[in-house]
Amino acid sequence: MTEIIDGNAVAADVRDGLADAIETLTDAGHKPGLATVLMSEDPASETYVSMKQRDCAEVGIESHHVEIDPDAPAEELYDTVDDLNADDAVNGILVQMPVPDHVDTRRVLRSVDPRKDVDGFHPENVGRMVAGHPRFKPCTPHGIQKLLEAYDVETEGAEAVVVGRSNIVGKPMTNLLIQKAPLGNATTTVCHSRTKDLAAHTRAADIVIAAAGAPELVTGDMLGDGATVVDVGVNRVDADTEKGYELVGDVEYESAEEVAGAITPVPGGVGPMTRAMLLWNTVKAASEQSGVDVDL
Ligand code: NDP
Repeated sequence: MTEIIDGNAVAADVRDGLADAIETLTDAGHKPGLATVLMSEDPASETYVSMKQRDCAEVGIESHHVEIDPDAPAEELYDTVDDLNADDAVNGILVQMPVPDHVDTRRVLRSVDPRKDVDGFHPENVGRMVAGHPRFKPCTPHGIQKLLEAYDVETEGAEAVVVGRSNIVGKPMTNLLIQKAPLGNATTTVCHSRTKDLAAHTRAADIVIAAAGAPELVTGDMLGDGATVVDVGVNRVDADTEKGYELVGDVEYESAEEVAGAITPVPGGVGPMTRAMLLWNTVKAASEQSGVDVDL
């Protein structure tokens, strides 16, 4: 029987597990605070930001939100980040990507105080993670680690294939899988758009993590029997629905489910974990900045 990995349930456990820590911090006068910065009118970005604010409200994290006109000069965003860096009520800063073309994305990522970089994208935090002593693990790969842990998926000595090499998913995921730390020690192959025979790699894998942004790229016949399949992809495809589209993953669910030992659905798999780990990172940031010890 294929096990369906329930991201909503594991994310709820993560959120519940934060309750004591948030209470301790709040009682000590250090209620955790997360700032979101939106410089876009893209409906998807607006939705992501409002979901993050709602998540914060649900667990008792204070949200601070700044909206910047997408046509405003880039300096307005840089100055906003500087202000948030200096604001003691803000423990975590998240600049919603993508930002407009006239903004230097790398400058934005570098300008967030690394101690408040709850996305884990600042070069200092990337370096720390690669070196094996992470401060903040990027939310999506961190959430996938938690999912694998919750479902007792053994990474030690496993053959893992990560499809995708982006800075936000593929590369950090690969890095976590190859670390010696618990939940690592996997023999890991990274595939991308220039990989010659993707199926040959995925078929030999115990764990396949698909983060390509390519609808239903990984099909059942590309998987080995009993593989654990984690589908990161969220792709809009035209469909005969009220909205005119539907969301599908990077894995063809129906065929993959027949072969996999365990599989994440889309939606309800990785997505809720990404959101939960942002809260987790914010609480960690609040603890480190305030010096109030909490169990995480
Ligand atoms: P990017 O577009 O930044 O990266 C995609 C990667 O996949 C690239 O490395 C690309 O290769 C590779 N790739 C693309 N097509 C193929 C193919 N046919 N075969 C093999 N490799 C391929 O995407 P992201 O990493 O940002 O996101 C990936 C997906 O995950 C998207 O659908 C995104 O919406 C989703 N996502 C979901 C999250 C969640 O919480 N559920 C969070 C973040 C992302 P190359 O480098 O050669 O171009």
